[in-house]
Amino acid sequence: MESGLFFYLDGMINPTIRGLGPEIPIHTIFCIGRNYAEHARELNNEVPTTPVIFSKPVTAIIYDGDSVILPPQSSNVHHEVELVVAIGREGKNIPKSEALNYVAGYAVGIDMTARDIQEKLKSKGNPWELAKGLDTFAPLGNFITAEQIGDPGTIDIVLSVNGEVRQKGTTADMLFPVDVLISILSDYFTLHPGDLIFTGTPEGVSRVDDGDSIEAGIAGGKSRLSVKVTR
Ligand code: MG
Repeated sequence: MESGLFFYLDGMINPTIRGLGPEIPIHTIFCIGRNYAEHARELNNEVPTTPVIFSKPVTAIIYDGDSVILPPQSSNVHHEVELVVAIGREGKNIPKSEALNYVAGYAVGIDMTARDIQEKLKSKGNPWELAKGLDTFAPLGNFITAEQIGDPGTIDIVLSVNGEVRQKGTTADMLFPVDVLISILSDYFTLHPGDLIFTGTPEGVSRVDDGDSIEAGIAGGKSRLSVKVTR
């Protein structure tokens, strides 16, 4: 399809939520920073009293079997394994008590981060998108339904690099649990079906290099993800 104003390219990225029946286009990707106290401390950050919120463009999404591409602007790219929430209903000013009714499903995701770029941005008080939103910087696993997960406050999260476990945590350690995050986000933004929330990472983040293999999973591997790292 073409018009005078827009040109549609072959292979243009139209990322979708996979695993929950009909594929839904991904809408907004919200991300939460410093949602685990031990991770905030390992990067010498204060433990926050309100959630740190940023977003990624949909062009950052890749899937199981794809490759993370190290950008030429960075020499220190880190993995951050996270529980990802898919929103299934439109909502605004959602009370915490109703928040989980807006969840369609959960998946494992990785918030890839150019740590050297982020440190520079942080020192100037600038937004983080240039460190977090690059192409391929949001690997996303298959989704499983909210019913299959049950309580999102007791989900195990694990990530290994080249077979060595680097991150192993539980969503029980979140400073701001899933229902609180949905409620707060919806006070600022209308949530929409196809929105994703990357909910923050437990401790153990570390650098990856060209040739590494990353494996990640949540809920005993019900959602899992395997990506290569390349230049
Ligand atoms: Mg993160």
